[in-house]
Amino acid sequence: HATEGPGGGVIQGSASEAVLVAVLAAREQAVVKYRELHPELSDSEIRGKLIAYSSDQSNSCIEKAGVIAAMPIKLLPAGEDLILRGEALKKAIEEDVQDGCIPVICIATLGTTGTCAYDDIESLATVCEDHNVWLHVDAAYAGGAFALDECADLRRGIDRVDSLNFNLHKFMLVNFDCSAMWLKDANKVVDSFNVDRIYLKHKYEGQSQIPDFRHWQIPLGRRFRALKVWITFRTLGAEGLRAHVRKHISLAEQFEKLVKDDKRFELVAPRALGLVCFRPKGDNEITAQLLQ
Ligand code: PLP
Repeated sequence: HATEGPGGGVIQGSASEAVLVAVLAAREQAVVKYRELHPELSDSEIRGKLIAYSSDQSNSCIEKAGVIAAMPIKLLPAGEDLILRGEALKKAIEEDVQDGCIPVICIATLGTTGTCAYDDIESLATVCEDHNVWLHVDAAYAGGAFALDECADLRRGIDRVDSLNFNLHKFMLVNFDCSAMWLKDANKVVDSFNVDRIYLKHKYEGQSQIPDFRHWQIPLGRRFRALKVWITFRTLGAEGLRAHVRKHISLAEQFEKLVKDDKRFELVAPRALGLVCFRPKGDNEITAQLLQ
């Protein structure tokens, strides 16, 4: 909110809410745009054509957002390395456009729940730009590591996305619930969600320096989550938070070494940040037993 641009940040309760807000806003923007092109179609006819995309590795909340928004979300196959790339998205979009569908949004993940894989934001952004599709990044877990210079690679392409969320209640030590959401153009959310009543009017309305966050979220009222963010930041400082994330990474490196040195176990995916995916060698039943 410090610049003249239309971008902005808001604290949501959870990654699920942030994703839902992005999906709903993208849906409403698509309806408005398509209505101008095809005035002969009703809004419900347009809504029936809308389609969204994510990877088959994305968190369950993405699929849930599709259910709530009544918009099918195609879970595209990630590569063998569990990364979603522009190629798969391009193929799906081209097929769907051919079938008369309207592509609306792609939700990529930086740090998937299963293996902490990072979708290829650069190639996805290129496809989204070509097809006028909203690109949202769910960085619920990994987003906290964006603060580290040595993890700068994770941020590649992020300047090209339309919206992003990461959970301060994960890596950033803020207690549940606290999910930061950033939007390249907050007006797109505000215009989609703006429903006014006489009792909601106030004298600061329309001033960009004083955003009306009720238009950026599902509920009307808001908790004062900024206070606990402020306290955490003041108590630990930026360096303290970075040290915390680095400690997680170094513990995971130690654990990865233990797994590698132990003949009974094997890694399932490369270690990423604080996540080591491993299993006992042999039949899957042994893994199930260990999990139990
Ligand atoms: N997205 C990813 C990548 C996650 O790992 C998780 C939770 O583990 C979520 C979303 C859901 O987070 P929340 O409980 O804040 O909705």
